[in-house]
Amino acid sequence: MIDTYGRQITYLRLSVTELCNLRCRYCMPEDGICKKRHEEMLTQEEMVTAVRAAAALGVFKLRITGGEPLVKANIVDLCRKAAAVNGIREVCLTTNGTLLPRFAAPLREAGVNRLNISLDTLDVEKFRYITRIGELSDAVAGIEAALACGFDKVKINSVLIGGFNDDEIASLAGLTRRYPVDVRFIELMPMYDSGDFGPEAFIPYTVVTDRLPELEPLPADGGVARLYRLPDSMGNIGLISPVSAHFCADCNRIRITADGKIKPCLHSSDELSIKGQDYDGMLETIRSAILSKPKWHGELSYSARSHANRNMNQIGG
Ligand code: SAM
Ligand code: SF4
Repeated sequence: MIDTYGRQITYLRLSVTELCNLRCRYCMPEDGICKKRHEEMLTQEEMVTAVRAAAALGVFKLRITGGEPLVKANIVDLCRKAAAVNGIREVCLTTNGTLLPRFAAPLREAGVNRLNISLDTLDVEKFRYITRIGELSDAVAGIEAALACGFDKVKINSVLIGGFNDDEIASLAGLTRRYPVDVRFIELMPMYDSGDFGPEAFIPYTVVTDRLPELEPLPADGGVARLYRLPDSMGNIGLISPVSAHFCADCNRIRITADGKIKPCLHSSDELSIKGQDYDGMLETIRSAILSKPKWHGELSYSARSHANRNMNQIGG
């Protein structure tokens, strides 16, 4: 379906839970979140109905996200049902990777095509600091488990944080030499509760090209990342700049949260509820959401915070 500004909406990001086994400082409060009542959250059946309705409106790419999708009960079953929806050509899943040693093979078998694994640092102590409770070895074991299962693509997502991991740009990019993965550097977004970070943390994507002059530019692939490659590597490097150079004119996505809100725009507080609706109701609500997508998300910076009114674990990134 085409929105009011001529953008074709083909991509749904479905957040299946707000819960997580980590507590990343830019994403979640330290003490986790106040768990919502079961009745407030979409059931698995409602999630699959929403995917069917979105597919009927022209969505063909689905991303399962969270919170941490792999802490959700029956996640493999949900992925299998979503992958079987008519019209869905590609199912991707975004994860912190720590539970992939258990889940990578069943997810692949259930029809998940691609995995994005979040990893901001290769230092054990810094990993524990940024996630508050995580172990780097679990995330690395997850990447290796994913690579053993034959996914069409495995990407590593690193949030660029000035003063935290800008000294690791070369080693994170170097993962494309160690493994057959793509690496994405994503600018830190000033969300509701990313308050541990001062203005110096919000660095633009251009620090990556400054630090890695050997990067060779590649043609765009239709995604939102500017693409490059290190010589002698097995995957590409993508730079994603939601803050310093927004890509709203090419936005092709809508989001559905685990509590059943459609977000036409990541950084807007506008939400439309599908909780409790049947297929026809969801079809109409998703149509209205697409037609209400704003032209752009407005100014974003350390001092101009996102209007999303949610932390990222309640949206899905
Ligand atoms: N738990 C999974 C994970 O970490 O990949 C999926 C959900 S997480 C909310 C999705 C993505 O959002 C992750 O790559 C995470 O790094 C990113 N993210 C969370 N908060 C962010 C922020 N304030 N700015 C930029 N990216 C953020
Ligand atoms: Fe959890 Fe992902 Fe948020 Fe980290 S970024 S707290 S792993 S949901």
